[in-house]
Amino acid sequence: MVDRLGPPLDEPIFEELAIIGVGLIGSSIARAARRRHAARRIVLADHSVRVLERAKALSLGDVVTDDSARAVRGADCVILCAPVGANAAIGRLIAPTLRPGAIISDVGSVKGAVIGALKPALPAHARLVPAHPVAGTEQSGPDAGFASLFINRWCILTPPEGTDEEAVTKVRAFWQALGSHVEIMNAAHHDLVLAITSHVPHLIAYNIVGTAADLEEVTRSEVIKFSAGGFRDFTRIAASDPTMWRDVFLHNKDAVLEMLGRFNEDLTALQRMIRREDGDGLFALFTRTRAIRLGIVAEGQETAAPDFGRRAAESDEPVP
Ligand code: NAP
Repeated sequence: MVDRLGPPLDEPIFEELAIIGVGLIGSSIARAARRRHAARRIVLADHSVRVLERAKALSLGDVVTDDSARAVRGADCVILCAPVGANAAIGRLIAPTLRPGAIISDVGSVKGAVIGALKPALPAHARLVPAHPVAGTEQSGPDAGFASLFINRWCILTPPEGTDEEAVTKVRAFWQALGSHVEIMNAAHHDLVLAITSHVPHLIAYNIVGTAADLEEVTRSEVIKFSAGGFRDFTRIAASDPTMWRDVFLHNKDAVLEMLGRFNEDLTALQRMIRREDGDGLFALFTRTRAIRLGIVAEGQETAAPDFGRRAAESDEPVP
C-alpha cells in the first residue's frame, strides 16, 4: 500500500492537460499531476470568476481561463471535472477546438447517462475514456483540494466498446501516477455498484438529517448536542455539495431506484425483527455488517482508529 505520491516522472504522460471545472476534484488532479510531473503543462478552465481567482492565487496551473473552448486547443488530454449535468454542454462547447486524437476523460460519479450524453457531442476523432476516482470529501471548491486525495483509492475506467487501447493505457497510467489503483468495468455495472456503495448511502444521510431537522418532539439544539450518538456521521455525508448530488440522482435514476427497492425490503425485515423482538436476527445481521467494516479497514480504505470527531490520524493528513 502506498501512502505518498512518488517522485516526479522522468517523462510526463501528457504534454498538455486541460481540466474543465477547478473544484475539489479538478484542483486535486492539478495539484497531484503537477507534483508527479504527469503533465508537462496544465491548463485550467472554470466558469466561475471566484474559482479562477483562487486557482491563480494557489498557482494550480500554467494557464487559468474562463474560456473552455480555448483551454482545450493544445491539450492531448482533457478531463471534465464539473458536475455531471454540465458535461454534455461542455462537450459541445469544446468539440470544435479539440486537437485531433485528443483524449477526453471525466471524473463523474455516474457513467452510463454521462457517456450517452457526451459521446454524441464529441467529434469522431476524439478518444473518450470516462473515469471515476472513488475518492472525495464532503467539501467543494479549489481550496478544498489536495494532492494526496487519490492515493490508495480506486479509479474506475469505463471505456465504451471499441475505445482506442493506447488512450485507455495512458489514462490508466495517469491515475496510477496520482497514486490510484485502476479497475476497468462497463458503465452500467459501475452505476449499479456505485448506487449501493455511494449514491444510496448519500440519499439515506440526506433523508435522516432532513427527518431530524423536521422532528417536532426533539429540539434542534438536542439534535446538535447529542449528535455524537451516530447522527454526526450522517451529517458529514449530508453536507456534500447539493449541485453535484442533485445531478448524481438525476443521472443514475434507474440503478438508485433499484437499490432503494432492495434497501426498503431489508428495512421492512429489520422492522419486523424489532417488532417480534428477534434478538438473534438482529445480532446475526449486526455481526455480518461489522465484518464488512473490518474488510474495508483491512483493504486500507479506512483506518481502524476510533473516530471521536474527525481528528485525522497523522498519516491521513492531506498533502496540500
Ligand atoms: P466542485 O468542487 O463543486 O467543482 C466543480 C467546479 O466546476 C466548480 O468550480 C463549478 O463552478 C465548475 N463548473 C460547473 N459547471 C461548469 C461549466 N459548465 N464550465 C466550467 N466549469 C463549471 O465539485 P467536485 O466535488 O470537484 O465534483 C466534480 C465532479 O467530480 C462531479 O462530476 C462529481 O460527480 C465528481 N466526483 C466528485 C467526488 C466528490 O467527493 N466530491 C468524488 C468523485 C467524483 P460553480 O461552482 O461556480 O458552478
